Amino acid sequence: MAGEFSLIDRIRARVVRRGDVVLGIGDDAALLTPEAGGQLVVAMDTLNVGVHFPGDTAAADIGWKALAVNLSDLAAMGARPAWCTLSLSLPTPDTEWIDAFLDGFDALARPHAVALVGGDTTRGPLSVCVAVHGFVAPGHALRRDGAQVGDDVWVSGSLGDAAAALAQWTQGGARDTELRRRLDRPDPRLALGQALVTHAHAAIDVSDGLLADLGHLCRASGVAAQVDVDALPASAALRRAIADPGQHRTLQATGGDDYELCFTAPQHARAAIAAIARASGIPVTRVGCIVAGDGVVARTGDGAAWTPARAGWDHFAG
Ligand code: ADP
Ligand code: MG
Repeated sequence: MAGEFSLIDRIRARVVRRGDVVLGIGDDAALLTPEAGGQLVVAMDTLNVGVHFPGDTAAADIGWKALAVNLSDLAAMGARPAWCTLSLSLPTPDTEWIDAFLDGFDALARPHAVALVGGDTTRGPLSVCVAVHGFVAPGHALRRDGAQVGDDVWVSGSLGDAAAALAQWTQGGARDTELRRRLDRPDPRLALGQALVTHAHAAIDVSDGLLADLGHLCRASGVAAQVDVDALPASAALRRAIADPGQHRTLQATGGDDYELCFTAPQHARAAIAAIARASGIPVTRVGCIVAGDGVVARTGDGAAWTPARAGWDHFAG
């Protein structure tokens, strides 16, 4: 498309440099030196306007989030990120938009030393697809299929903020900037995921809602889970914005887009996990346990069965 090359030049001028990138943006393909003895971990996620972010989302926030959701997948594998590629579909070759997009993208790529090594730029409805590549020591990846009966179920950070922001945006009315920040700028839990590789049995990042994502983990592991919905961590912003405890629980248990880690670990690892949380600065909360069977059963603190008002977000539902 017209201006494609000036856009690519702008992207190229800002990439993070790494010694393992032999040839980055500019040739027909990138040339990379994989980590000796490491296993390559690859993930890809697409963000479409109106589906994965509200239409009024700032370009810088789209740039951040496009990379963040991918890094979150690597975090959930316990991997260290190295490289990424970026496929951009833009309605117009808008240099102001691309510079703002790169501001957000770069703000996350730089601290995590992720090098953008290539991509594709086309004209079309706004859509951003990122693929990330990272490494993990052989046999150390945090998979979904490793949960064992008797494990604790843990969650990082707090749940429900992003879903609350989305609900506020959809309904109009009061909008909380702290909640909106959780929706626009999720913080991939990379340090936590990497530290958990020697303690956790299984992990998944919470993108569709805790109960839905924990359900994926249980299915892969051939086990069931019990969750105490009153134990789910809530931020001060969520408590402030939404007073009704029933609404809290639904947002925390089923709201997507928080990009926290949900992981299982043996009970004897509790002290080690608490130490990892302190060291990484990300709080973790025990919210349930793994039992024999299938499915996820949610209960309130008094032991009563609890069912959400709606299930986790499913792009192809209804
Ligand atoms: P080709 O026709 O060989 O696919 P392109 O013109 O699509 O080449 O891309 C030229 C170079 O710019 C390639 O190295 C490609 O990886 C890179 N590139 C194109 N678009 C992007 C993008 N959005 N982000 C990063 N690199 C890009
Ligand atoms: Mg191309």
